[in-house]
Amino acid sequence: MNKSDSERIAAQLEKQGHQAAQKLAEADLIVLNACSVRQSAIDRLYAKINQLKTKNSKLKTILTGCLLKKDREKLKNQVNELWPFCDFSIKPKYQSLKTAYMPIMTGCNNFCSYCAVPYTRGPERSRPAKEIIKEVKDLVKNGCKEIILLGQNVNSYNNVILSEAKNLAANSKSTGSFAKAQDDKLKGVSFPGLLRILNNIPGDFQLKFLTSHPKDMSDELIETISQSKKIAKEIHLPIQSGDNQILKKMNRGYTVSHYKNLIKKIRRKIPEVKISTDIIVGFPTETKKQFQNTAQLIKWAKFDSAYIARYSPRPGTAAAKLKDNVSNDEKKRRWKILQDFLDKNKNGVAKRTK
Ligand code: SF4
Repeated sequence: MNKSDSERIAAQLEKQGHQAAQKLAEADLIVLNACSVRQSAIDRLYAKINQLKTKNSKLKTILTGCLLKKDREKLKNQVNELWPFCDFSIKPKYQSLKTAYMPIMTGCNNFCSYCAVPYTRGPERSRPAKEIIKEVKDLVKNGCKEIILLGQNVNSYNNVILSEAKNLAANSKSTGSFAKAQDDKLKGVSFPGLLRILNNIPGDFQLKFLTSHPKDMSDELIETISQSKKIAKEIHLPIQSGDNQILKKMNRGYTVSHYKNLIKKIRRKIPEVKISTDIIVGFPTETKKQFQNTAQLIKWAKFDSAYIARYSPRPGTAAAKLKDNVSNDEKKRRWKILQDFLDKNKNGVAKRTK
């Protein structure tokens, strides 16, 4: 998402008459596009800005991206300008002609307790399907072979519009404008519906998407992936923890058994599927037993790949109010146990078929 934002920032700068510098020393303006997923990335920004200014005192610095209000306040005097998020009306300057990252929505309404995104990117907003379809058609026409649809939770694409349309339809039965409600509903095509439309665009290209949320992964979506030739058989489905109590504290909205049922269903419908996941170890109050539940889940699921993160508090989130009581050494130990297991068991698909 950050990379995609940068492509729109680059397009905006070019529109203003700027040209990309080949070396940092040649630049007279630099845009720092922040990412708030980890506090360490934000902490490094302070040093980075100072380092840039020392090297080139005439450099104009602009800061934008995924930043908490508190960090914006702290950093605003260190840069020349602060920019809001680059909006979707700007056509991106794609860095690659073969692969395009295309946001279909931004923001998030889920408020997982450890995550800063709902505070930095705000509430979930979906781009109109019409705009996305046109952009995909243009990319394919220009030879793009791989389009990666992006959203914090792509499974809930247009959910806000869909529920509004439903309410409108319910109310309008009594007011007599049912036909109008049906028109409005058309505006709110769901994620599986959007995928089917994109799958039908002629051309030789593949569609991928990131990220799915286990609580919103519908049977319709699984069916659509299995039936659509152009959709890659790859699903990134973050579990985060294999323990129900920790999942509850993370405010993830599903249980381990819900997740396991999803995996079973996906593999039944799409036997060649590759499933990857995200895991956080050392979440506040996570006991050794609770960590073991995550380790067992990983062994059971035989993921094709997994990204394991050691928990670090993000100021302003609900989890940051909990005592970060798992020591760094213990977080490292838990991380290593899972990473070693994954390294030894690469290619889960091959192992599954044995
Ligand atoms: S679903 Fe949860 S982890 Fe993902 S962006 Fe939203 S709040 Fe963050």
